[in-house]
Amino acid sequence: MTQPDNSHPDAGSDTVGSVHELAVLSRIFPLLPAATAATVGPGDDAAVMAAPDGRFVVTTDMMVHGPDFRFAWSTGHDLGWKAAASNLADVAAMGARPTGLVVAIAATRDTPVTLLEDIARGLRDACAELAPGCGVVGGDLSVSDTFTLAITAFGDLEGRAPVLRSGARPGDTLALCGDAGVSATGLKLLFSDAVTHDGRPDHVRAQRLRQDHPRAVGAQLAPRPPIASGVAAALAGATAMLDVSDGLALDARRIASASGVAIALNRASLGDDPDTALRGGEDHALLATFPPGRALPEGFRVIGSVTDGDGVTVDGEPVAGVLGWDPYEGWNGGTG
Ligand SMILES: [Mg+2]
Repeated sequence: MTQPDNSHPDAGSDTVGSVHELAVLSRIFPLLPAATAATVGPGDDAAVMAAPDGRFVVTTDMMVHGPDFRFAWSTGHDLGWKAAASNLADVAAMGARPTGLVVAIAATRDTPVTLLEDIARGLRDACAELAPGCGVVGGDLSVSDTFTLAITAFGDLEGRAPVLRSGARPGDTLALCGDAGVSATGLKLLFSDAVTHDGRPDHVRAQRLRQDHPRAVGAQLAPRPPIASGVAAALAGATAMLDVSDGLALDARRIASASGVAIALNRASLGDDPDTALRGGEDHALLATFPPGRALPEGFRVIGSVTDGDGVTVDGEPVAGVLGWDPYEGWNGGTG
């Protein structure tokens, strides 16, 4: 892992350190998406959200410059989009509809205000495309030596039971909605081709790489998880579900362990590059189990089945060890 480089490729004149916080916020607020479930939105000491279900789903995810993203590779729009998408995917994986985001940013003093505006546009566009009606209902802005963005997301179960990791039963069908391994392919490309000769992330090489490999690099920098499919899976009777953040092998094992079952994956159903699909995370596809014979919601495809026992097998062969993405260790499941 290389040293984080906090410099911004698009450094402009106004920075977080040179402009008053209120002035920064007045530029960001108009860009943020509104939440239809907010009865009191941003501007007061706290927001008020409608929760007609009587319960709400809540999750949080933090992105730290260095281990989680690099400004040499990600634009502000990418960062806002990805932070929103990964949180929305966690809400969707419970079978809930995302309703609101709270966004906390600790920016370095040299952060251009235009970069914060780009982050706000990324949040707005991700909500509009992936979870219409979900919006930013509040947040906080501070300064730090390391740029950090933390999002807390809320969701509405709309009267349904939450879909847990523990509900898979022997005989269930295992199905996936979304990509597997595409984001990891993009990350491998960035680590191999978008760095300087001494291993630092390189902005110009990353831009060129993205033009040459738009799908893989785009999936890594701004993933498009199938958020609405979470509710669809719940309505179709999904017995267990999660979003694949650490690779199919590791995340299938999480369902197997929580449910006390074994999961058998079919290698032929894992696409052109099954090893990367098994080990590569961050696509935030939805992995779910359904009762036998149940019609699957649109977008889900069968990739395996649930059986008695424990652990994960691929074509009958056990998957050993921890194979996936660990932000503290870097890529530990790949070949390079
Ligand atoms: Mg998750």
